[in-house]
Amino acid sequence: MEYEAVIGLETHVQLKTKSKMWCGCANEFGAPPNTNVCPVCLGLPGVLPVANEEALRLTALTGFLLKCTVSRYAKFDRKNYFYPDMPKNYQITQYDKPSTLNGQVDFEFEDSLARVRITRAHLEEDVGKNFHFKRQSGVDFNRAGVPLMEIVSEPDITSPAMAYAYLNALKDILVYGAVSDCDMEKGMVRCDVNVSVRRKGQQELGSKIEIKNMNSFSGVRKALEYEIPRQIAVLKRGGKLIQSTRRRDDTSSTTEEMRTKEQAHLNRLFP
Ligand code: ADP
Ligand code: MG
Ligand code: ZN
Repeated sequence: MEYEAVIGLETHVQLKTKSKMWCGCANEFGAPPNTNVCPVCLGLPGVLPVANEEALRLTALTGFLLKCTVSRYAKFDRKNYFYPDMPKNYQITQYDKPSTLNGQVDFEFEDSLARVRITRAHLEEDVGKNFHFKRQSGVDFNRAGVPLMEIVSEPDITSPAMAYAYLNALKDILVYGAVSDCDMEKGMVRCDVNVSVRRKGQQELGSKIEIKNMNSFSGVRKALEYEIPRQIAVLKRGGKLIQSTRRRDDTSSTTEEMRTKEQAHLNRLFP
């Protein structure tokens, strides 16, 4: 029995703006911890966010570069959850009315032209960063509120090499448009990798497994090179795959399960 992989990527890109998404704090990498913060990006009671016009422009520009429909009307939603690197306990994102929809990325791959369809590119905001020391942990909120674009692909990618080529093509487009510097070293691009396998010729998709927060394109490729044979092996020995989220361990080059329940419905989104 032959199997094939189905891959969809959710790519997060920090936008190249001077200030954050909803306040005037600097969007700057490498400043001393918690120096680029204010009541708005710390989510103190009573503050009013004001949208960053340049971030809106860069999102629309990305829509055009990715051949999306750029919406005449878009809206933002609060996604409520608790995590220590997110001072507000909610993220402002776009749920049902995103800024852009239905695009594509065309790129050269294995001597021909490949196409990956884009579901949407929407605007949200980054979270802070946790640091773990020997005896304590700390959190730096400088990154909290930096404009972050999420570009969601359709599950059109069929191999680790194709995922790698797609990401490089996407990066080239974003750098060309001066939308983002896409500096991987500075964490400006991060990826959630969704992958399933199915029998060749089978129509319906297999159970999706998501590997969260990869911070390099080669890491994405390696995670897929591990994960696809793992899934195929499970099916070949008669096992079942269930929808779940995994974390990649960079030192052992393997992935491990984090959670199996999808938690989106618990986020209590509201406009
Ligand atoms: P969620 O709501 O859990 O984020 P989505 O349906 O929005 O899931 O898809 C997120 C990403 O996963 C998209 O990039 C999509 O193309 C991809 N995806 C969805 N289903 C599958 C599947 N069965 N196998 C691989 N990728 C998938
Ligand atoms: Mg997801
Ligand atoms: Zn601020």
